[in-house]
Amino acid sequence: MKLRSKIHLYSSVLFALLLVLMSLTIYYLFSRMSLNSQLEQTRAAGAKIAAEMKKAAGNVPESDMLRAYVPAAGMIRLLGQDGSGPAAVTSASEQELSRVAGVYSASSRSEVTKLAGGTYAFVSIPVVWHDGKVMNVQVTENLDSTLNMLRVLRLVLAAVTLLVLLPLLISSRILAGLIMRPIVEMTLTMQDIKQSGKFRRLELDGRSKDELVEMGRTFNEMITLLESNYAKQEKFVSDASHELRTPLTVIESYASLLKRRGLDHPEVFLESVEAIESEAIRMKELTEQLLLLAGPKEQWNLDMAVINLAEVAENSAKAFRNAYGREVRVHSDRAIKGYSDEAKLRQLMFIFLDNARKYSDEDIIIRLETSGRESCIRITDRGIGISKTELPRIFDRFYRVDEARVREDGGAGLGLSLAAEISKAIGARIELESLEGTGTTVKIWIPSESREKR
Ligand code: ADP
Repeated sequence: MKLRSKIHLYSSVLFALLLVLMSLTIYYLFSRMSLNSQLEQTRAAGAKIAAEMKKAAGNVPESDMLRAYVPAAGMIRLLGQDGSGPAAVTSASEQELSRVAGVYSASSRSEVTKLAGGTYAFVSIPVVWHDGKVMNVQVTENLDSTLNMLRVLRLVLAAVTLLVLLPLLISSRILAGLIMRPIVEMTLTMQDIKQSGKFRRLELDGRSKDELVEMGRTFNEMITLLESNYAKQEKFVSDASHELRTPLTVIESYASLLKRRGLDHPEVFLESVEAIESEAIRMKELTEQLLLLAGPKEQWNLDMAVINLAEVAENSAKAFRNAYGREVRVHSDRAIKGYSDEAKLRQLMFIFLDNARKYSDEDIIIRLETSGRESCIRITDRGIGISKTELPRIFDRFYRVDEARVREDGGAGLGLSLAAEISKAIGARIELESLEGTGTTVKIWIPSESREKR
């Protein structure tokens, strides 16, 4: 069953049940109240008649007394314990009642009872008669008028229930439609996105703030996020392919040169092989960076611990000196600690050291210091620097400052975006200050101890 039909069915059934229950309660309470009040009236009238008859007993014949007090629609009877007493007197409309035999009762009795096919209020009051015997003054009164009124009430309640049910059914259908509309629209939009492959958004009522509009807004925000991620992904793939095409083209052209002239010209052979090797190394580095950036960060298997940052800096500087023959000086007056993953921190430092190497010619300086609950590794070069306008974009993937400035060994523009990912993973913070023509300083802020401990 569709959700819309379910909402309609459940709310209609619930409303109908509530209405019927309400009508039944009203009818039950009202009928009890009116029958009780009718019985109370008969009881009061019976008591009054009994008192007056007792007073007149002996002076007025009993049958005359009965005739004088007979109710407009009912019967009056005077009954002794042994069934003695004058014949019951009935009103003209209730002659049938006289056939019903009287039953003596030692105590006062009052009840609503069914007699001769009708419903009556019956009252029996014991009275000590003038001859010393106990007699029952019994008054029976027809309840037709009350029953008629109750019948009308039944009809009115049934009609009102039906009348109210009709708009309720319609309104619950409208309500179901109202709730379902945004959901249906959302489903249609999703189906459309699935079929056309294009991102679409829901049209929302800007004024309303209800939960359904909120849901639609969240859906639209999610689509915007998906769209931007999709665009980023597309750009990433196209940039990556573009980056890979250049070295591949170089390799292809050198390979065909080798094929044509390599065997006869040893100098061409050497130049081609060297070029192919260096392009292959570039491609390898690029694919490694791409794999790191595209892969899931959860698989980085971090090994976070409190480590000696001065030692890490010293080791990185040594490895760098050996690899590139560039002087890297480390300044640290004491052992400075930091909570990090050693391998990832080294990788991070290598990215910044590599940039310092690529974009400067003088010595690179590493300084370590602590400030509050953080330790800082500061890497400074006195190279070409980065202009203020370029600074905000250098962490974007594949972004390179002015291609013309990029030296021969410049990378693909992935180093800093990878650095941003690594620092996020190890809980470090990066600050980059640069002045064009003067140099660049990168600060890596590392928490001194585990955050859970604080
Ligand atoms: P790449 O691999 O091309 O160096 P990065 O993402 O590491 O890419 O850096 C992005 C750009 O920022 C570089 O192309 C370079 O122009 C600039 N840059 C980064 N570090 C420095 C630095 N220390 N000095 C001058 N320019 C830098």
